Amino acid sequence: MSEVRHVLGISGGKDSAALAIYMSQKHPEIDVDYYTCDTGKELTETYDLISKLNSVLGKEISLYKSIDESNSPMRNPFDHFLAIYGGYLPSATARWCTNKMKLEPFEQHIGNEPTISYVGIRGDENRDGYISKRENIQTIFPFRKNIWSEDVIRKFLNNSNISFITEHYKLLQPDNIDLIIKYVEQPISMRFTQKQKLNALLDTNVKLFNRVVFEWLKGTDYPVGKLDSFSLIDNDENLIIDDIFQILEDSGVGIPGYYKPIDYHVEIDGEIKTGTYARSRSGCFFCFYQQKIEWVWLLEQHPKLFEEAISYEKEGYSWMEEKLEDLKIPERVNAIKKDHYLKTHRRNERAGLSWQDQILQAEGEGCASCFI
Ligand code: SF4
Repeated sequence: MSEVRHVLGISGGKDSAALAIYMSQKHPEIDVDYYTCDTGKELTETYDLISKLNSVLGKEISLYKSIDESNSPMRNPFDHFLAIYGGYLPSATARWCTNKMKLEPFEQHIGNEPTISYVGIRGDENRDGYISKRENIQTIFPFRKNIWSEDVIRKFLNNSNISFITEHYKLLQPDNIDLIIKYVEQPISMRFTQKQKLNALLDTNVKLFNRVVFEWLKGTDYPVGKLDSFSLIDNDENLIIDDIFQILEDSGVGIPGYYKPIDYHVEIDGEIKTGTYARSRSGCFFCFYQQKIEWVWLLEQHPKLFEEAISYEKEGYSWMEEKLEDLKIPERVNAIKKDHYLKTHRRNERAGLSWQDQILQAEGEGCASCFI
């Protein structure tokens, strides 16, 4: 059956880029539509990454537009919506930007077609990506041992399905059937939670677990259930941050430029110290999720973009509590660097952290649609 669409959103971040490469190399039998949603305010490093990916994937990455630029006086998605929102800058609690420029164009493009959306959440992350509320869109996480979304797992492992799961495991005749049935027949309760049951079954055999889930999906409206076969069910890999960097390096796409650590110098107790800074994520250059040291990175590495970010701060609106005009004062920049240097060096000495570990620590917060 070919009525199901397969899509993969490229945010400009490392994980979605690596996932696109991974899917094109490991699952060429799946005809994936790669797409991106441009906010018009991304870093040049992000546009570079997307153009390199275009050649590695051997396929054009579609642009899902949020506006018709030729009909907008602003000619740019972010500025267009900012005008509609009366100059009200987005923030973590009023994140209209992601809805208007990423989620809505995605859902409009998909329409009502049954669609599988592949998302690059890694095996070392503890979060779910954007899960569409639309029933025709199902999210799959190929980098995780558990490729299924939370709603699928919740319904599948529901105690009312115990006999279905038992029966289908028995049909597969695995060697460790007694152990599997012991876990399957133990109902979910306070003493044996859904998470414990999921992990216990995944530990017995990931591929068998996926096969039984696939059989169950055939009786539902989930898009995966409409497929005759789905090669991802034979995937039992669990990819972590080092694997992601490896995929990017091996493919020739390389690590997105904004992750590369750059030296900065700061005076502490009369001594000049050298620290490193970088962006921890993709997304708009003025994204309100960035840390203070990332604003300093923007100021020093992309001074024109920093000035452009300042130009949005007016009439009581700012990207964060501290105004950028204040942040760019040299004493303040020094104080931020000093603080960053002391924090990272204390932490790194304690834990022996690499720059990849620092990215891992910084990336937890924020929006999966923009940064994965
Ligand atoms: S990167 Fe930040 S500012 Fe840009 S759309 Fe995403 S959340 Fe909004």
